[in-house]
Amino acid sequence: MPETPPQQFASDNYSGICPQALDAIVRASAAGSAPAYGDDPWTRLAEDAIRTLFNTDAAVFFVFNGTAANALALATLCPPYCSIIATDIAHADTSERGAPEFFTGGSKLMTPPCPDGKLTSAAIKLCCRKAQSPQASGPAVVTITQPTENGLLYTPEEIRALADTCHEHGLSLHMDGARLANAVAALGCSPAAITWQAGVDALSFGGTKNGMAVGDAVVFFNRKLSRGFAERAKQGGQIASKMRFITAPWLSMIKSGAWLENAKHGNACARLFATELAGVTGLDLAWPVQSNGVFLLLPEQSMNTLRVKGWRFYTMFGGVARFLFGWDAKPETVKALAADIRASLQA
Ligand SMILES: *Cc1c(COP(=O)(O)O)cnc(C)c1O
Repeated sequence: MPETPPQQFASDNYSGICPQALDAIVRASAAGSAPAYGDDPWTRLAEDAIRTLFNTDAAVFFVFNGTAANALALATLCPPYCSIIATDIAHADTSERGAPEFFTGGSKLMTPPCPDGKLTSAAIKLCCRKAQSPQASGPAVVTITQPTENGLLYTPEEIRALADTCHEHGLSLHMDGARLANAVAALGCSPAAITWQAGVDALSFGGTKNGMAVGDAVVFFNRKLSRGFAERAKQGGQIASKMRFITAPWLSMIKSGAWLENAKHGNACARLFATELAGVTGLDLAWPVQSNGVFLLLPEQSMNTLRVKGWRFYTMFGGVARFLFGWDAKPETVKALAADIRASLQA
């Protein structure tokens, strides 16, 4: 039997809980009894910490995962007789089993083809033109993913341009930030600069892939748009009764700076991995490395060799091998994977 690799890079949610998040759970538990359903000091402080992080008076909510964050945020922003515009590789469309459509209770997703996984103003305008008849489900909201599912970044200027198009057409702009921290780390900007200052109305802010056990936040920069969110979250089974075990880690991650350090580390490991593979014949990067993901075009035989060696990875977007690096990625294991990839191409 081949030796099992010591660590896997199939996804950043393969990782354990980072120390700052885990310690916070232990400490919040040691405090004994506390009010349930978010009526506790950790939850209030975590909401405040997120408002401070974004430097604005947003409405903040916590749910168990990213699918719920997206589906409930989109349902809050989109009436059942309207539609949601997303790219054709958006997690909300490909990987949520229809949760956005389900929670909206009738909305459609419009997914114009977006060759590099990034939405454009032209694509949004085309969707609006196509759905002009009173019989069509006219769009009400656009959702973009930052970084995208294929690891690319929108610059603040690109987001501003999309937001302007949305607002000119009466649409709100939602951002799926399952890995927002990686985008902030990579762009070296403030969280505000790529969200509300660029025109984003609501955000799904990922905690799980950043190093927490569980729990993503939903941030409505436009408070008026958050009406009904808390009720939908409860109806959807997404209000943790022991909320402090989601929010104490959030507070600790932000106060300690771990949210950004973890993301910087993941991004650095992705760059290391790409550097280890630079110039190797027989493989190509499907997209440039801009965050914590590396997407490789590898021959089928090479992928099989890697699987036999015990490496796990997803193939997405029609056969692209995806590697994602989390807070705990060990540089020596990153190098070992790269070495096995190089060897698999020479076999
Ligand atoms: C992981 C992910 C989510 C959330 O997924 P859950 O498994 O529900 O936490 C949402 N959007 C993107 C782009 C993701 O990668």
